[in-house]
Amino acid sequence: MSFLLKAAVTARNIVYKVPVRHLNLLEFQSKDLLQKYGVAIQQFKVLDNSKADAEVVKTFEYPEYVVKAQILAGGRGKGTFDNGFKGGVHITSNKSEVLSLSQKMIGNRLITKQTPKSGIMVNKVMVARSVNITRETYLCILLDREHNGPVLIASPAGGVDIEAVAEETPEKIKTVPLDIDQPIPEATLVEVAKFLEFKGDAVKRCAAEIQKLYTLFKAVDAVQIEINPLAETDKGEVISVDAKLNFDDNAEFRQKDIFSMDITEEESDPREVEAAKYNLNYVAMDGNIGCLVNGAGLAMATMDIIKLNGGEPANFLDVGGGVKEDQVAKAFEILTADPKVKGILVNVFGGIVNCATIANGIVAASKKLQLNVPLVVRLEGTNVNQAREILKNSGLPIQTASDLDDAAHKAVAALK
Ligand code: GDP
Ligand code: MG
Repeated sequence: MSFLLKAAVTARNIVYKVPVRHLNLLEFQSKDLLQKYGVAIQQFKVLDNSKADAEVVKTFEYPEYVVKAQILAGGRGKGTFDNGFKGGVHITSNKSEVLSLSQKMIGNRLITKQTPKSGIMVNKVMVARSVNITRETYLCILLDREHNGPVLIASPAGGVDIEAVAEETPEKIKTVPLDIDQPIPEATLVEVAKFLEFKGDAVKRCAAEIQKLYTLFKAVDAVQIEINPLAETDKGEVISVDAKLNFDDNAEFRQKDIFSMDITEEESDPREVEAAKYNLNYVAMDGNIGCLVNGAGLAMATMDIIKLNGGEPANFLDVGGGVKEDQVAKAFEILTADPKVKGILVNVFGGIVNCATIANGIVAASKKLQLNVPLVVRLEGTNVNQAREILKNSGLPIQTASDLDDAAHKAVAALK
């Protein structure tokens, strides 16, 4: 799953997705971890449409139930299933409805603002004790490059799209750099809790929740813990109602339990899964230019320059370093599978990557896929001259570009 650089978002007031894949868990898996670290969550059980469901339902009794589709994407509450059923989050006080709601969700694809247009298959449903929410706040702890460490991002305007809050009311977002070696100082916790508009005893409760979340963040090598909403209830409780955790893939060796939970492929964006199989990172965007790049930094720069030239990227495929020809071919296959893609821009700076490998991969893929959208290629670095020869001799209508600006300009122009 892609990782939102929220700090950059708030600082620059723009929404940027950074194409890096980090292990992502389903909500119920994340909540298991939260519970282990003493974070206040709602009691829950998981249903999967098996015969056991009826038995599971007998094991709990709540005044009200919240039934939630488990997919690796947010915006479920406002989502719609491909069978027309509305809402991936339902509340009911009628226990007999729990099973029927779950049956309407499981086996269908849920489409939300964060999923591909075809949605994501729901295989599991969480049933939790519903709480009476009086207020929804937003809390996120993430590793941030700009601050060279973890930062806490808080907003009293929770439950909604945080990107919209950042854009429309940036004063409602607070960013606090944290010390990775220390717990969060009490004064900081209180300051954040008050910024989140907690009052009276709830300030202390909120402060304690944040500290526990930070302890969890460090202990599990998370790169992001997003709680949206961190809710206040009518009883004054402070509860993590929704949780999204991402982990540092480099920590897999010491977080075996967590990485062994890696979710079934169906629950993710299929293009990401396909890309990951070939060690490629895929990030979906909304525009119409498919981008093949190497490295997250170059992806950001490519996005900037495309936008500057009046275009919009459809997606990013990051081939990273040490890429092989067949990976380039696969990357092309994934890029072009998206019907939104009306043109392709390859922007690769060959350091570790050999430009000739990229060129051979491009030529092979273009021929195999009978590519019928304009292709602009900008290669620079190792073996670039050999690469240019390969492209030139291929006989394919590939436009080469001399630099990044030229490449973006040509890619945008090619669509007109
Ligand atoms: P998301 O839509 O994928 O972000 O899923 P959430 O878990 O955040 O749920 C969406 C919204 O449903 C929340 O922002 C709440 O407004 C509401 N919601 C979720 N759980 C409960 C609950 O237990 N009680 C009540 N009253 N509302 C809830
Ligand atoms: Mg949410």
